[in-house]
Amino acid sequence: MKKTFLLLFIAGLILCSCLTQDENPLFSEFDTPFQVPPFDRIQEEHYLPAFKEGMDQQNKEIEAIIIDPESPTFENTIEAMENTGSLLRRVGSVFGVLNGSMTNDDMQKIAKEVAPLESKHRDDIRLNDKLFQRIKAVYEQKDKLDLTTEQNTLLEKYYKDFVRSGANLDEEKKATLKEINQELSILTVKFGDNVLKENNRFEMVIDKKEDLAGLPQAVITGAAEAAKERGHEGKWVFTIHKPSMIPFLQYSEKRDLREKIFKAYINKGDNNDELDNKAILAKIAALRVKRANLLGYKTHADYVLEDNMAKKPENVYKFLDQLWKPALKMAKREAMELQEMIRKEGHDFKLQPWDWWYYAEKLKKAKYELDEEMLRPYFKLENVREGAFSVASKLYGIQFIERTDIPKYHEDAKVFEVKEADGSHIGILYTDYFPRASKRGGAWMNSFRKQSRLYNKEIHPVITNNGNFSKPTGDSPALISSEEVSTLFHEFGHGLHGLLSDCNYNRLSGTSVSRDFVELPSQIMENWAFEPEVLKMYAKHYETGEVIPQELIDKLKKAKHFNQGFETVEYLAASFLDMDWHTLAEAKELDVDKFETESLNKIGLIPEIIVRYKSPYFNHIFSGGYASGYYSYIWAEVLDADAFEAFKETSLFDQKTAQAFRKNVLERGGTEDPMVLYKRFRGAEPTVEPLLKKRGLK
Ligand SMILES: [Zn+2]
Repeated sequence: MKKTFLLLFIAGLILCSCLTQDENPLFSEFDTPFQVPPFDRIQEEHYLPAFKEGMDQQNKEIEAIIIDPESPTFENTIEAMENTGSLLRRVGSVFGVLNGSMTNDDMQKIAKEVAPLESKHRDDIRLNDKLFQRIKAVYEQKDKLDLTTEQNTLLEKYYKDFVRSGANLDEEKKATLKEINQELSILTVKFGDNVLKENNRFEMVIDKKEDLAGLPQAVITGAAEAAKERGHEGKWVFTIHKPSMIPFLQYSEKRDLREKIFKAYINKGDNNDELDNKAILAKIAALRVKRANLLGYKTHADYVLEDNMAKKPENVYKFLDQLWKPALKMAKREAMELQEMIRKEGHDFKLQPWDWWYYAEKLKKAKYELDEEMLRPYFKLENVREGAFSVASKLYGIQFIERTDIPKYHEDAKVFEVKEADGSHIGILYTDYFPRASKRGGAWMNSFRKQSRLYNKEIHPVITNNGNFSKPTGDSPALISSEEVSTLFHEFGHGLHGLLSDCNYNRLSGTSVSRDFVELPSQIMENWAFEPEVLKMYAKHYETGEVIPQELIDKLKKAKHFNQGFETVEYLAASFLDMDWHTLAEAKELDVDKFETESLNKIGLIPEIIVRYKSPYFNHIFSGGYASGYYSYIWAEVLDADAFEAFKETSLFDQKTAQAFRKNVLERGGTEDPMVLYKRFRGAEPTVEPLLKKRGLK
């Protein structure tokens, strides 16, 4: 998941002068149903003036807090701060969501201009000494204030954020810090843009039928449609977008073409041209060290992790090491099995990374008589989505009602109203599942508006779920892969975290929790997706309506541990790489290739497996918010495996367990320490055992 940060803009814009507040729909509260953004009325030229005005407004609101003659209290300082910046939040959210899902050169240009200004605005607030002194004054008397737990967390959060942003530094150091932040904001946006452009740049045009050998018909049809869209009618096109590339790697008998597409994928951002990211990321890593040092931390990871469940880099490394050994052992065994398969086919070449998917798919078929294409007919996208909704309904009693009368930003998007069992309104969910050139890769949850309740004003959430799933092809509806089924349930879990939030303060609500806790609500949902009881609810053949046969479910169950060595190793290697980049203690711009090779050699990664993200396209850590946080997916998997045990110990839809999870985790956002919340749900801290068992590593 990626949370899009608010972006601000100030530079002298000619555009602002020609628009009045009445003409810019972002300036006022939306008058649409459930106050969703009025997409048809928002034009690109509206963003910049709204960012500018939003920032001005927040500055004025903050000024009013500072000059308040009353001595600082929780209400007139902390709560008052929480009430500032509403316009900015509004424009930032709309822009953030749409720049991810509906971007174009103009939107990216706005993002690039806005990023450094947002960074400056945030710094101006956090480094405002008068404001900090008021917050500090409240913080110092916090024990006498009789605050609720949530208020106490909010106060600590404000105080720590200011300190972590440099509020205690002298003026000279504050100025340096601002410069670093500005530079970082520009570099990270540029990094992400380059990756997006790289994803769209490569295409493999096939014009000979024999080069399609081995590919299933649906994949061929999809490639023919992609070719038509890209002006190669009558041919076939494959891209390095995963729904196009992965089936090619799994099924293509053409080893040289597999190598070609795979290499294009792993060389993204590493082609020594205008989209090369090496120098950019080396600079990002160095600047992060410089900033951490300035703030009194040894490394960027020390700075980041202080705020997470893991607390310290040593704890992350210790945790990763615990998993690495059994995973690597398993991956080596898998590689041997694949090599054996190659030998049996009468070849003598050594297994290479671009062979892994192909032979793994074959081995899976041989071992379990299971093939991804046997499952697809049962995973019609709409059915899977209904399945996810039904699971939530059975767990929490909530309902999802499709609405066709609510504005949408793209025809692929669908809108659902989410209601309690008694019919009361919870929020709105947009689902937007298909790839397009204007959308960034991967899958994520975001929000047009977060839940909160300030001054008794109930704000209902407007949440989005975004994906790049397999599209309908020819006469067939969208039939998605089992991995895509997991992803859909995953993002839906983040969606529930946002929708079921029941907090007072925007700052703490929904998914505003530490990085290594945020994946618990999402990953736990993946567990339900493949339970036989749940599959029977939604996995129905798209043509016949027949429920997925028990035989296929049994095979699925047996194959569950298949390839887990590979998947765990590929992921863990990226987690180590992330930690290595962010435990540098010296602000030097390093040789990226050399650094990466050393990092991966150190853990003994085998050459048949490539790290899940190589540095030049590791968006999570160089453009998203996961720097020294990529480990958190598997950290949260320890939590989700342990949490799901609670359901397995009772029943899949046990109401008491479900209520405990909703009340203690989903509703609480970041209002309390995550481990406290978790223990309140589960009665104890989690252990790593259920995870090892789940992945078949033990
Ligand atoms: Zn996630």
